[in-house]
Amino acid sequence: MPELPEVEVTRRQIARVLVGRRIETVWVASPSYFFVTPPAQLKKVLLGRVVKELGRTGKYLHAELDDASSLVVHLGMTGQWSAAGLSRSDHIQFRLGLDSGTELVFRDVRKFGKVEWVRPGGSSARLARLGPDALEIGLGPFYERLQSRAIPMKSALLDQSILAGVGNIYADEALYQARIVPTRRARDVTRAEAATLLRAIRSILRASIRGGGSTINDYLQPDGELGGFQNWHKVYGKGGAPCPRCKTVLSRVVLGGRSTHFCARCQR
Ligand SMILES: [Zn+2]
Repeated sequence: MPELPEVEVTRRQIARVLVGRRIETVWVASPSYFFVTPPAQLKKVLLGRVVKELGRTGKYLHAELDDASSLVVHLGMTGQWSAAGLSRSDHIQFRLGLDSGTELVFRDVRKFGKVEWVRPGGSSARLARLGPDALEIGLGPFYERLQSRAIPMKSALLDQSILAGVGNIYADEALYQARIVPTRRARDVTRAEAATLLRAIRSILRASIRGGGSTINDYLQPDGELGGFQNWHKVYGKGGAPCPRCKTVLSRVVLGGRSTHFCARCQR
């Protein structure tokens, strides 16, 4: 599932072709749970609009339009934006034809993604539920949010209302770098540990963005390239392999329904 780095890599590539452009044609698929805004309405409200800005909060992209409305998109499990001309034409949810001649395509095999149009002056309930973005949150708010929760650290990092953007891969990698065991209760983490963890989260997310994100199953950059950061994972998906730090065999457990990878020796 795309997490903050994959969504940010997508945002940067899509912004180059989308921002400042007028939407001249809109094609939408049949109604499905992908469309929070019904496809027929989406087509009507997007036609002729100019995209002013493409922002990101957590794993959500939001395009600000020239009539002060906005388009909120979540990639879900398998959602992909493409500006490169897709070789496959199945599972396409919508296409935007721009005045530059470029066509932007959104493809989503499993349709766990979401698209929602937000009227001028309105707000998206989905965005309103999010905590601060993981690259923006300061230590004070991060530590306070952990202090109020008795859940395991892994679950706290996945809770998008605490901080937005971290998913299964980057939670495991950041906890490993910060030497915090994923089962520790969030409220038992000290301020110094929270500071170390926040630094780890930021440095790993930034490194992944530079590497084009992580491709585990489906993720592709909008230009069709695979991500590169999966080659730098230290623990994610590596249960049974030796810990890169201490050579202890890495553990894999299921925590809150999610596979979780860690070193039982050097994470406490
Ligand atoms: Zn270790």
